[in-house]
Amino acid sequence: MKIAITWDYELFFGNNPGTVEKCLLEPTNELLKIAELTQSKFTFFVDAGMIVYGSKQKDFERENELIQNQIKEWDSNFHETGLHIHPHWQDARYDEKWVFNVDRYKLSDFNNLEIESIFDEYYSVLKDIVNSEIISFRAGGWCIQPFKNLKNSFNKHGLIIDSSIFRGGENFNPPYSYSFKNLPNLEKWSFDDHECVFNENGLFTEIPIASKRYSPWFFWKLFILGRLNKFLHKPIGDGIPVKGGGSKKDLLTKYHKLCLSVDGYFVTEIEKTIKEEEKKGSTLLVIIGHPKACTKFSLAKLKELIIKYSDKHEFVCLRDLTK
Ligand SMILES: [Zn+2]
Repeated sequence: MKIAITWDYELFFGNNPGTVEKCLLEPTNELLKIAELTQSKFTFFVDAGMIVYGSKQKDFERENELIQNQIKEWDSNFHETGLHIHPHWQDARYDEKWVFNVDRYKLSDFNNLEIESIFDEYYSVLKDIVNSEIISFRAGGWCIQPFKNLKNSFNKHGLIIDSSIFRGGENFNPPYSYSFKNLPNLEKWSFDDHECVFNENGLFTEIPIASKRYSPWFFWKLFILGRLNKFLHKPIGDGIPVKGGGSKKDLLTKYHKLCLSVDGYFVTEIEKTIKEEEKKGSTLLVIIGHPKACTKFSLAKLKELIIKYSDKHEFVCLRDLTK
């Protein structure tokens, strides 16, 4: 099986963005060490708006340079760089730290001309940093719908892979808006106008993030362990997430269909899933993660997991899954 661990490389978008050092540089350095040790490859979806607006902000100059150096480092080690777009950067301002307004959080909050110019600018800034091709895309907050508004920009910039969706996912709590029900019964598929509909003549490939049904019990463990052992379970990233992911009470009382993730305590569900997928005879598995959400615990588990499974499975970039 080919396993693609994909990282959304970004700050936090709530009331405190966190520092570049703690949300990006430090955890990503740890990830790159794990990759080197195990000969595995990762995909990093870079929140390009951060660099677009960071380049215009004198006070962010130093951070911006460090970010670009880190991207160059993984690029020269053959990890994949994908385009991640959080268009609410259009409304961000800098006042000793980034201050976000998420009224226009998703691409569908912008008109088609604006979408095109966002893609042009965000894609170019990233392309100027890396030597490799940028062919993979992930929408910020899974909000890719409606895809037909992005199609021109995909064609223009040679984006051919999308990995924004996960089976069964649905969230209409603002600022989010997406629904991924009734997907094709395939591991990946070509598509044209709609990322959730198989079209054999489509020029694009959808490679969904794996999804998982998490029990309330899982969240009880997550919250309790987080309280009991902050040293192990506190995220390295030092910011505050954007609201809209669901209330704590909801998580502790209901089942939730969410992405298969290596973030924090979520990493404990990966091994079980790998075993289930082996049984099913799956050929690929896409996992999501965020450097900002890495914990001491998750990094140690991830390392253990990759070492344990790298003889049997291949840890690859997303682009390797289309071959
Ligand atoms: Zn994101």
